[in-house]
Amino acid sequence: MSNLQRLRHFVTSFAEVLERHTDEAAVLRDGSALLQNLVAVDDWLPAAYAQPDPERYRQYLLHADSRQRFSVVSFVWGPGQQTPVHDHTVWGLIGMLRGAEYAQPYRWQDGALQAHGTAIRLEPGTVEAVSPNLAGLDDIHRVHNAYDDQVSISIHVYGANIGAVKRSVYQSDGTPKLFISGYSNQTLPNIWDLSSESAAV
Ligand code: FE
Repeated sequence: MSNLQRLRHFVTSFAEVLERHTDEAAVLRDGSALLQNLVAVDDWLPAAYAQPDPERYRQYLLHADSRQRFSVVSFVWGPGQQTPVHDHTVWGLIGMLRGAEYAQPYRWQDGALQAHGTAIRLEPGTVEAVSPNLAGLDDIHRVHNAYDDQVSISIHVYGANIGAVKRSVYQSDGTPKLFISGYSNQTLPNIWDLSSESAAV
């Protein structure tokens, strides 16, 4: 398998996982294995989906399921960039493709939102999960590029069309603010255009 076939195979296989399981823990277990395979080889992400922005991290939509059951996003960090503390409200899987990132979980403690434990460093080929529903997983975190001098890229899968989900970023005192991430896509290659295999990569 090469290049964009990896991504197509991932998308169709992930849809099969969702046909097989309605149980979230099972979806995350089988989905993590698929995502780990996808990010094990860094030769398939079209360059247009890997472009950083000097101002802000970018989220490019790679695929939105027709039934909104899941979406796949290329998350591109410029050097030193970070997110605010934010939630997702749906399950999410994060697979590191290139570079590295740190994810710091947050939890509510005594009515305040506080960093919980130490930040997790994600290296290429590894997968992390977030969820508001499963014991042992957190839905709130802050993430940053582990590098101040290079681009990092992770591939995210979410249990909804994440760019349209109403969720929250949190101020330092824990006050939530409505957040709808949208997508950074302008005009980008169509990953399903089988006639332009080499042009799209
Ligand atoms: Fe996140």
